[in-house]
Amino acid sequence: MVQAVDGTALRELLDGRWAEVRREIRDGLPAEWFAGTADLDTAAYRALVTGRLRELAAAGHSGRGFPRAYGGADDIGAGVVAFEMLGFGDLSLMVKSGVQWGLFGGAVQNLGTRRHHDRYLPGIMAADVLGCFAMTETGHGSDVASIATTATYDPGSAEFEVHTPYEAARKDYIGNAAADGRLAVVFAQLVTGGQAHGVHALLVPIRSADGAPMPGVTITDDGRKAGLNGVDNGRLAFDHVRVPRDALLDRYGAVAADGTYSSPIDSPNRRFFTMLGALVRGRVSVSGAAGSTAKVALAIAVRYAEARRQFARPGGEEVVLLDYLAHQRRLLPALATTYALHFAQEDLVSMLHDTQLGGVTDEQRQRELEARAAGLKAVASWHASATVQTAREACGGAGYLAENRLPQLRADSDVFTTFEGDNTVLLQLVAKGLLTSYREHVGDLDTLGTVRFVADQVVAALVERTAARALLDRLSGLAPGRRDEDSLTDPDWQSRMFADRETHLLEGLARRLRRAGSPGTDPFEVFNEAQDHLLALARAHVAGEVLQSFVAAIGRCPDPATAALLGTVRDLYALAEIEADLAWFLTHGRLTPGRAKQVIATVNQLCAALRPHARTLVDGFGIPPGWLAAEIVEGEPRRQDEARRHRAAAVPRPTPATARTPATTA
Ligand SMILES: Cc1cc2nc3c(=O)[nH]c(=O)nc-3n(C[C@H](O)[C@H](O)[C@H](O)COP(=O)(O)OP(=O)(O)OC[C@H]3O[C@@H](n4cnc5c(N)ncnc54)[C@H](O)[C@@H]3O)c2cc1C
Repeated sequence: MVQAVDGTALRELLDGRWAEVRREIRDGLPAEWFAGTADLDTAAYRALVTGRLRELAAAGHSGRGFPRAYGGADDIGAGVVAFEMLGFGDLSLMVKSGVQWGLFGGAVQNLGTRRHHDRYLPGIMAADVLGCFAMTETGHGSDVASIATTATYDPGSAEFEVHTPYEAARKDYIGNAAADGRLAVVFAQLVTGGQAHGVHALLVPIRSADGAPMPGVTITDDGRKAGLNGVDNGRLAFDHVRVPRDALLDRYGAVAADGTYSSPIDSPNRRFFTMLGALVRGRVSVSGAAGSTAKVALAIAVRYAEARRQFARPGGEEVVLLDYLAHQRRLLPALATTYALHFAQEDLVSMLHDTQLGGVTDEQRQRELEARAAGLKAVASWHASATVQTAREACGGAGYLAENRLPQLRADSDVFTTFEGDNTVLLQLVAKGLLTSYREHVGDLDTLGTVRFVADQVVAALVERTAARALLDRLSGLAPGRRDEDSLTDPDWQSRMFADRETHLLEGLARRLRRAGSPGTDPFEVFNEAQDHLLALARAHVAGEVLQSFVAAIGRCPDPATAALLGTVRDLYALAEIEADLAWFLTHGRLTPGRAKQVIATVNQLCAALRPHARTLVDGFGIPPGWLAAEIVEGEPRRQDEARRHRAAAVPRPTPATARTPATTA
């Protein structure tokens, strides 16, 4: 049996390194900000969100991640954690603030130089200068290197001419564009002296002070979206728009008055990835926000499941939903994964903070950070989408009502899997990093170059290792998962299972890609045919990192009872992950059928063991009670009490209710 714990210790552990920021946000946001916005029309919703954005700035919540020299706090981690906390509230406000301070402000800060900082950062922090991050085009989203907007330098006037050559090259989905933005960081192919230098970013005014589009700029509204309708997403097209030379954000590439191009990074490909890498904070922020979304959904669904009763035991009371194994199976593994991802996010934010604060010098470390951010963003946002849907269904019809928040949560968080990098594309980045061990010169290679590199350089070593390992496996006759004496709830065994799966996937992938080096083969086809394998590897790798973070967090938990509870949560995370991939573990001989059945039975046992702690665990997220803003959270317990009192006083029913299929209702 798992001992009951004091929720405070749990919360303190979860609050982690930036506990103070979490406290400030909990104390600082007005309760009325959590009231539903589903009934607002687009214009009213946008106006509300813009007003609150300014209030956030006025209350000092915008500067944490910006330099102290401009009134910020130089605390990158604090900025990301503050954003994560906003994810407990209205997601349009969170995304709007992410566009303003994360994307737009972050691009000025990280791609610009002193003069851009002096001129714009104070206004950006104060929300006086509202702006856009205009990278995506209708024609190219994931493949940023192929965007078609041009910025051509004219030495005669010392200006850049920003131009949209055809319709598919217009900027699309751009936050702050449809209504509020005055300035945009526009990503474009830089051309000077007739030579192309790849994607660079420039500051382009898009609206005058009175809100009218600037000459040559066409702005259209993306209109109503599936969610996030408090954010004004729009399209931008440029017709030979002229901006001065110093509009170029020139940290990684500058153009002299005579048009001479210079960059501290010689390789165009590496320069491109370095520029994108400087913007990694946005991705880290989205993965934190995804975590908050999953937490809110689970907090609502678990509270409801603890109050709601449906069907009576024969001759007994109606059963609380969370006492059903099927219900535990839906909510508790999701809860365990949410804990696991929380600790992984905490480690990622620390890594970001420590890597970026001192100015990046270690390129390998930066690449690892980017890969970790890409992987966690993908896994966390998919988890959030799945968890919100599970929570919605777990609340039955009530989960479908706007007053219970889950429908809007689902609509608003859905796109986390797409923006800040499409998840499938991000996982490919993760796998690429693993194949190349983040070698520095890989930054110089395009995708096909990477395939060839992998084929030529890395595979030979991996294949040798694989052959040796296969022999050893044969000699020992035992893969790590098969020994019956190993306990499934031993964290070392769990870690070995995760690591073994990852290594096997990596080595198998390397063997498949080796063919790309053979004469007459098309490296693209070889790579394409292995894409499923690539994604499986990336997922396995992220799961391993997440488990490591969880184990480390339990190790630093000062309260033994809390650590024990979290140990059970970790077991559930690890075994539910193995269970979800049971086909792989079985087909690869990692588990015998008997052990596989044990995994399933143990997941059931862990669900039962954690059931009494479900409420403590969701309370550990530290979401202030009023912030859940779902009627059922308070309403269902009240109604159940009233119904029970009523039934106690009423004449007994003629037949005891049994668990039968209810009459269908339309
Ligand atoms: C609400 C919202 C807000 C946004 N805000 C901004 C913003 O402020 N600024 C900005 O610049 N952008 C913004 N975006 C754009 C967003 O970043 C892009 O939508 C995203 O990068 C995906 O690009 P895409 O839509 O062109 O999809 P595509 O790249 O066309 O992808 C479509 C599908 O193809 C798959 N796919 C693509 N390439 C591959 C491949 N190599 N292998 C396998 N599958 C592949 C993807 O997985 C995806 O499922 C926003 C988008 C939305 C919806």
